[in-house]
Amino acid sequence: MKRKNQKKAKKISKKACEAVEKKLSSLPTSCTSCGAAFDKNDFSVIDNWKVSIHGDSFQLTCPKCE
Ligand SMILES: [Zn+2]
Repeated sequence: MKRKNQKKAKKISKKACEAVEKKLSSLPTSCTSCGAAFDKNDFSVIDNWKVSIHGDSFQLTCPKCE
């Protein structure tokens, strides 16, 4: 019984992962507050930006607006 429950939990987390991946592809390309351009390919920039999820949409905040 215990093993069955674990399997179910794993399945759910995988599904959640897929949902997040799907959402990431629809990530905004600019700061939600000031509209500054966000370069997804620049990893040094990504570290400073803040991504938060509000219900079904992403909110992207640049370092200046944080
Ligand atoms: Zn901003």
